[in-house]
Amino acid sequence: MDSNIFCVLCGGPFHLEHHIYSLNPQKAVYQWMYDVRLLATPSALSRQIIGVYSQEQPTNLSEDDNVFLSQSTQWKITDSDCFRLGESYYCVLTDDGHGNVIFPLHHACIQIGCRVLELHPGISRVTDQLSPLGRLNQMLRLQFQYNKSSGVGVGHDLFNLNSENQTGDPRSLLAMDELGWWGDEHEKFLTDPLEIPGISQFILDVLRATPRTSGPESPAVRPLRSAESIEKMPNELLDIITAHLPPLSVVALHRSSRLLSLKVPLDAHFYREYVANGSLFPQVWDLDNEELEDDENEKADFSRLDGLWDWKSVVRLLQKKEFSVYGLGCGLSEAIPLGFWNRCRIWRIIEDACPP
Ligand SMILES: [Zn+2]
Repeated sequence: MDSNIFCVLCGGPFHLEHHIYSLNPQKAVYQWMYDVRLLATPSALSRQIIGVYSQEQPTNLSEDDNVFLSQSTQWKITDSDCFRLGESYYCVLTDDGHGNVIFPLHHACIQIGCRVLELHPGISRVTDQLSPLGRLNQMLRLQFQYNKSSGVGVGHDLFNLNSENQTGDPRSLLAMDELGWWGDEHEKFLTDPLEIPGISQFILDVLRATPRTSGPESPAVRPLRSAESIEKMPNELLDIITAHLPPLSVVALHRSSRLLSLKVPLDAHFYREYVANGSLFPQVWDLDNEELEDDENEKADFSRLDGLWDWKSVVRLLQKKEFSVYGLGCGLSEAIPLGFWNRCRIWRIIEDACPP
């Protein structure tokens, strides 16, 4: 790709040129790349305007006064580092002299970024007074300033995805640099990460591919020491407490000791409920519960425990959060929706970029 204008959150372009990517830019799964928004601190707009053909102010779609989110705009290679809003042009990815920058981003990446900042339990709440959109802008702005002050440079590869990741790593900028000679693998870097037809079907495929199990779900585990602290708590009381905890906290409690793994058992019902509603894996927010239930009712294999699928197999898969360019290595390479692969990739980039 000749241009160094791209979405800093995913490394993907804003425009697919014909005859370069060996794919059809008109396909529905690629249209998300053409929905580009400008994200900035509001004051940056007046300083980065370079061509004013109207006094009309661009519409701010953000509900947070601390951040500007533009309406949809588009970009083509002849636009260089300028984006048009209304009748005016704005210079992007350059410091306005006051520490503010206008970031052009895919709307889909902004939405994924806001979900990461809002839902991920490991994210610092230092900037709680800001909306997720404001925190996303803040994160990008601080990273830009850090790169500038540390001598890393102010190249547009804000998170050093290209220099720190090997070719073939989902976080590398493969989508930018090596599309022309990477077979067909580039499609997954460019497929719509929001609208993913078949994501529920993929989960069902994973369940079906799970080896048959029989007998009790948890093997007999004997504690190696006597109970201490919270481990002494009666099971009934622990049940009441865990019923009020977020699912991720219940999992953490379960894993904290061998004794607690016995006292706080996690069965297929637990995993199924909280995977399906997105509580355990917030990057999977759009499973179709009805589709899952219909299929389970129709095809449940009662030789499996409780007549349920082994949801732990899905949990193990989703815990990866990131999948190799080369596939899953478990016979499901063909089944993973390309959009889901791309969503996980973008989610991981943003998650890694968040302050601890
Ligand atoms: Zn993007």
